[in-house]
Amino acid sequence: MTIGPITAPMGERASGMLPVPAGVDPGTSIPITIVHGARPGPVLALVAGIHGSEYAPIIAMQRILPLVDARELRGTLLIVHAANLPAFFGRTIYTGPIDGKNLNRSFPGRPDGTVTERQAHVITREILRRADYVVDIHAGDGNEALRPYTGYYARHGTPEVIARSREMAVAFGLEHIVLFPGTYTAEEAIYTGAAAVTLGKPALDIEAGQLAEAAPEAVDAITRGSLSLMRHLRMLDGAASPAENPVFIEQRASVKSLHDGIFYPAVAVGEYVTRGARIGHVTDLFGRRLQEVHAPEAGIVLVIIGTPPVRVGETLATIAQVPGSR
Ligand SMILES: [Zn+2]
Repeated sequence: MTIGPITAPMGERASGMLPVPAGVDPGTSIPITIVHGARPGPVLALVAGIHGSEYAPIIAMQRILPLVDARELRGTLLIVHAANLPAFFGRTIYTGPIDGKNLNRSFPGRPDGTVTERQAHVITREILRRADYVVDIHAGDGNEALRPYTGYYARHGTPEVIARSREMAVAFGLEHIVLFPGTYTAEEAIYTGAAAVTLGKPALDIEAGQLAEAAPEAVDAITRGSLSLMRHLRMLDGAASPAENPVFIEQRASVKSLHDGIFYPAVAVGEYVTRGARIGHVTDLFGRRLQEVHAPEAGIVLVIIGTPPVRVGETLATIAQVPGSR
């Protein structure tokens, strides 16, 4: 199998840099590994680092690599180690430092766009199109505390793709599974996973890790989940370790900052909160309280801002409305 300048014969693996050519602004490159199995099977893409300061997924890719032997593998594992090197080396959250765009809002990308759009275009053409299954692996960004979860598009794509994506979500093994509600045309599918589904590929989003850490439990969860998924897809021998009691989350509610200032969270991720419970406050830069922040719905705190700066309009917390919480 050949992707850009990287070729891996059957039963072998190869790593290298996939170029994103210069255009209206400087180019970059994307580190990938092809593990080309000795036996036939599907192509699974694991994509880490779409957001460059989400480190647990990037470190997990390094953990997975020596655990998958090309001589034993059925099919091909495509690993994108760090999809967004400008954001990784620039240590930015949400967006890339060259053009200020969010790669996970830039799919399917365009060859004549700015660098983030060209990155999306190369990933769509070389990775999403080549894969049979796509896993886009995120964490809480550098400023976000996060409780791990899996997500899939529950309404976007054919019934077959939706059913396969749901099976993959359970097989990955994380207990909380968010059903993304949206449906998208090809132009509207700006998210990595949504773009994959538009191409007819079952896809998952993984969220594990937080706050610019590469905590061992998050790295382990991604590593274990990826191997379990590969067993589910029969790429590896052995039984998958699916979620034993999956909690399907159909509704999420978020609350935004009304001010630029400093956020003080009052709850931790994973905590259950009642509707209206105080979950934090926002002050101005002199310490005067500007906003009491309350839970918009009852549920589990999935994401909450964990570092001081907040801008007006930014999401402060996302609550997962679990069954029975209303
Ligand atoms: Zn992300």
